[in-house]
Amino acid sequence: MTQTVDLTRALLADAFDRPITYLRVSVTDKCNLRCVYCMPESGLPWLQRDELLRYEEIVEIVRAAARVGVRTIRVTGGEPLVRRDLHRLIAGIAAVPGIEDIALSTNAVLLEEQLPDLLRAGLRRVNVSLDTLREDRFFAIARRPGLDRVLRGIDAAIAAGLAPVKLNCVVMRGANDDEIGAFAELTRTRPIFVRFIEVMPVHENLGLQRDTYVSSDEILERVAAHGELRPVPGPPGNGPARYFSYDGAPGAVGVISPLSHDYCERCNRVRLTADGRLRLCLFGDQHLDLRTPLRSGADAAALAELFRAAMTIKPERHHLRLGEASSRMRAFSEIGG
Ligand code: SAM
Ligand code: SF4
Repeated sequence: MTQTVDLTRALLADAFDRPITYLRVSVTDKCNLRCVYCMPESGLPWLQRDELLRYEEIVEIVRAAARVGVRTIRVTGGEPLVRRDLHRLIAGIAAVPGIEDIALSTNAVLLEEQLPDLLRAGLRRVNVSLDTLREDRFFAIARRPGLDRVLRGIDAAIAAGLAPVKLNCVVMRGANDDEIGAFAELTRTRPIFVRFIEVMPVHENLGLQRDTYVSSDEILERVAAHGELRPVPGPPGNGPARYFSYDGAPGAVGVISPLSHDYCERCNRVRLTADGRLRLCLFGDQHLDLRTPLRSGADAAALAELFRAAMTIKPERHHLRLGEASSRMRAFSEIGG
């Protein structure tokens, strides 16, 4: 059935006139790794099955989001590939009129085996989290083995033409900061965008964050020590990163610096949690429950009105500062970083 999206209505913008075009969709709170900066080793109090949105429910919410101007969907978690048959969801989202771009954030442990189904379903871009190129360190940071599988997943994504593949690397002093150069060097020979991320305070990682934080300015200095850098526009679907390339390199290096150079002014995104809450800011409590109305029969048009209503509570900016954890802080894993 062909449907048209009504583009004559005002598209979504928040109270600060920021157009909202990007929705991150968390499909699970669970993960097959336990990265030290993200999740306690023992895991979290996981959501019950009936608390999780079903794929059909997520697609209905995406349909509503598309009606009000959302064009990009990023599927995330927890670890999205641990949810069964994720390709079914990707196919459902790909069929929603108005959605132009579907991306996935993954730790890539399960990527190689699922990639063919995901590609057939319509996946076009992938971000892989990888904090080290050394197996012993991988275990120390992720508290599970799997570097070889992650690397195979990255190779499979590049071979499948999912260019550019973005690698997200959380930099921690004393844990992996001596690999900044090795990660940057990858961009000289491969179409990879390496994005270094400042570690942010979540859950009980405040001590780790305070002790290991490396600013994006320092990261860039250390990347520049390996060769002259020039600013580049960044890949399509460019998020909050600033990008730089070495001369003639097929890839680029980016820095994401929510703490030292926050990007709130340009924020174009909202998040859907795995249990159906629309979160207006990663670091704030402001959210709107969409699951209850959805399960009471709200259709995409009614949900679209809820999206509009939610815009009035999207905050202007987060108030995180280095070494502080907001009492409202939620783990990325819980809310779908
Ligand atoms: N499991 C998937 C993955 O790791 O890519 C998707 C979810 S993960 C929560 C999304 C991103 O958030 C990853 O790139 C991860 O490195 C990042 N992240 C999680 N906790 C973080 C923290 N405390 N500081 C900075 N980045 C963090
Ligand atoms: Fe899992 Fe991603 Fe969190 Fe690591 S960052 S524990 S892979 S959800």
